[in-house]
Amino acid sequence: MARYVGAVCRLCRREGEKLFLKGERCFTSKCAAERREGGPGQHGHSRQSRSDFRFQLREKQKAKRMYGLLEKQFRLYFKRAVRGKGVTGTKLLEMLETRLDNVAYRLGFGISRRQARQRVRHGHVLVNGKKVNIPSYRVAVGDVIELRGPLKTNVEVKASIDSVAGRFVPEWLSLDKSTLKGTVSAMPQREAMPQNIKEQLIVELYSK
Ligand code: SF4
Repeated sequence: MARYVGAVCRLCRREGEKLFLKGERCFTSKCAAERREGGPGQHGHSRQSRSDFRFQLREKQKAKRMYGLLEKQFRLYFKRAVRGKGVTGTKLLEMLETRLDNVAYRLGFGISRRQARQRVRHGHVLVNGKKVNIPSYRVAVGDVIELRGPLKTNVEVKASIDSVAGRFVPEWLSLDKSTLKGTVSAMPQREAMPQNIKEQLIVELYSK
């Protein structure tokens, strides 16, 4: 599946906020969004439109970029959310949160969603004891997610788990640090999902 391979800090600067796409660097003073004001590129400091459309578009772009998706994939999620039960915006976020690459990231199996996705792609992540190498795989309540063999003792993995534990592991997931197994204990509720996304604006944009 296609993915964005350009410089990710540009994306944060375009959205005007930190999207935490680079792991530990995002929490240091080296973060480009903190060091450089304005958007990227020649017109980054130009005056921005204040139209509703712009706010809706930026919100959609922000969510899409946070989860590392391209337009086609994101729109597909929206269509499924419309068909699903419940509030469309919340359903959309729930589907994004329960992607396997996001869950692996939340559990600390990668320092960023990008790294977690690569680990899934390369077959390092097991769901209920079986290898699943599809980043968009949706986890369900009761699923047990763990890393395969050698990665369990990898120092990088241990460091990323230590660094994200307590910062990111949401309450709908539980992580057993001794066995490095994560369990989906419930479906994520809106309060446990990113608070900086205004999903209603995304719904309004796609409903035009
Ligand atoms: Fe965004 Fe992280 Fe880069 Fe900062 S360091 S601009 S938060 S990706």
